[in-house]
Amino acid sequence: MKNRSKSLKKLLIIAAVIGFAPASFNLYAAKKVEQTSSGITITVQTSREKDAAELIDQWANDIDSVKKETSIQKKETSNTLLARLGIQDPAFKRYISTIKRTENPFYRLVPGRLVQARLTPAGKVIAVRIFRPMDVQSEEVAYFEIVSLGKSKFSHANKKTAFKSIPVGASASITSTLEESARSANIPLSVLTQVRTSLGEYFDVNKAVGEGDTYSIVYEKRELDGVDLGFGRLLAVEYRTKNKVYEAYWYGGEGLEGYYDSEGNRVEKTFMRFPCNSVVTSSFNRVRRHPITRRLRPHWGVDLAAPKGTPVYAAGDGVILHKRYQKRGYGYWLEIDHGSGYQSIYAHLSKYASGVEAGRKVKKGQLIGYVGRTGMATGPHLHYELKRNGEQINPLTAELKTDENINLKGNEDFKLAVAPLRKQIAMINKVQLAHNAEHQEGNPTN
Ligand SMILES: [Zn+2]
Repeated sequence: MKNRSKSLKKLLIIAAVIGFAPASFNLYAAKKVEQTSSGITITVQTSREKDAAELIDQWANDIDSVKKETSIQKKETSNTLLARLGIQDPAFKRYISTIKRTENPFYRLVPGRLVQARLTPAGKVIAVRIFRPMDVQSEEVAYFEIVSLGKSKFSHANKKTAFKSIPVGASASITSTLEESARSANIPLSVLTQVRTSLGEYFDVNKAVGEGDTYSIVYEKRELDGVDLGFGRLLAVEYRTKNKVYEAYWYGGEGLEGYYDSEGNRVEKTFMRFPCNSVVTSSFNRVRRHPITRRLRPHWGVDLAAPKGTPVYAAGDGVILHKRYQKRGYGYWLEIDHGSGYQSIYAHLSKYASGVEAGRKVKKGQLIGYVGRTGMATGPHLHYELKRNGEQINPLTAELKTDENINLKGNEDFKLAVAPLRKQIAMINKVQLAHNAEHQEGNPTN
């Protein structure tokens, strides 16, 4: 017991040093970033401070330098940009003007793009990079680079290189909504979206998130030579309710990419729970009074309210069985056969997507039509049904089939890839637990 409380203390000291807010914290956000009022991040680098990894990097050669980063602002010209970066180098300015317009990003600066400059203390350019934007899927970062060759000479090139992916941990407790908890733990919006999507494979995130639930995540912070390239992929999430733990770990192996639980079961289901961006207005119900006929009739699907024209996607891979019109019923509707005894129906569409014909193959997530109110409908909505072996099942709660072929149980590469993420989640949980314990035992007023 004594030992335990000692180790708790230790963890709390670590926690205090990284400085997280009560109950929710982010292991990265506490890191100090120096920023000037003109939006320039300055890092002064001396030979002494470099670590071994940096020393082997070309970018960090052995003279002392100043690294500056900024984002291109609206209506920025190359003159204002160079001035903000503190570049005092007439030869560099002349060089920029000699680069062909078609390949010269300084000719038309795109607001928001990241710029990094490495300068001598006197403001002479060692190198300048303008980065292209990336998305979550990106494996490389592309940039335009101008480097000094010495004696006022320069060269330029478009480059592509792998960035450094740094796992960042955060933990949060839910007091009201998932969004609120993410805000208090400084979890970036792009990461929160991924948390929602992966948890959405397990339950209806709009409804089932409850007060007192906690979660820990690991996500990717991207860097290249010390330049912050923003946040990338959600690498792991562990979500805890009172009686259940949901987990999703990112794994990218040979031809396999996606989220798996720690045992190697694919998290991503064969079917999307929601084939369009919508709100559930009428759920699966064995006895329901029909809104138009007023007769008691079971409702074998879910009604998803969305504005007319909202895109509707195929819930899974399959073949279009029919595409029909039914005036006193489904209006424009279609049915997809997914194989293995599964079919899905989409009704009251305003129109079909082009190329949608009976017999055509569709992929999960492919656009098949648009929300409407054709047939018997009181307002624009998608009536969505999912059938298994001829019987309707509730797509919102059913244990939707996962693809047995992509189970990674016993796969050594998977185990190796996921082990460090599991460790990191366990560490974050420990800090969280220690924190909670301290609040309960030691400090009742807090
Ligand atoms: Zn309906």
